[in-house]
Amino acid sequence: MGKSFVWPRGGPLDEAHAAALHFDAASGWMRPLRQVFSPNHSQRPAQGAVELLVIHAISLPPGHLDTLWIDRLFTNHLDSTVHPYFVNAAQLRVSAHFLIDRAGALTQYVSLHRQAWHAGRSSFRGRFECNAFSIGIELVGDGFLPYTEAQYAALIRLIEKLYAIYPLLVRERVVGHRDIAPQRKADPGPSFEWTRLDRALTR
Ligand SMILES: [Zn+2]
Repeated sequence: MGKSFVWPRGGPLDEAHAAALHFDAASGWMRPLRQVFSPNHSQRPAQGAVELLVIHAISLPPGHLDTLWIDRLFTNHLDSTVHPYFVNAAQLRVSAHFLIDRAGALTQYVSLHRQAWHAGRSSFRGRFECNAFSIGIELVGDGFLPYTEAQYAALIRLIEKLYAIYPLLVRERVVGHRDIAPQRKADPGPSFEWTRLDRALTR
């Protein structure tokens, strides 16, 4: 399989794609899926079983809803001359496991066996450094604009896929970045409808 195999090409994570999507337990990658390889990851600690899903919002530069710059941010190829916001952003070394764009299309950047660098200083139920035991999912959005139907559908399908892989995951362990870093972060923001997860998730 090619290194940037895309299926369906740029399309949403619909029912057919979700049904075809499988987890390669050896590598920690889901396939077939758009893959972009971020170098921003590190080893999970021995006790770092995946017990938490963290939902984020990203809009780069702020207010823009395409994914080009997000791919570049996560691969350390953001050109700091393109936009004033990129001057600082280009210095960051960050990533997430998954991104869901406005059309509901899914990209994976980091193996699920590795820590992605999405949570920063954070804590969940008294445990610090949530990257160690979590999976990070970015939604393209600014936290105020409503997320799209396709994004919710893709997110719910992805979470159910992850439930099948990680038995410790339940609804109470699907949180926002704001829940684990409330002093610093507000994402996925007030426009994210948590009740959709309450209604749709199977556990
Ligand atoms: Zn975040």
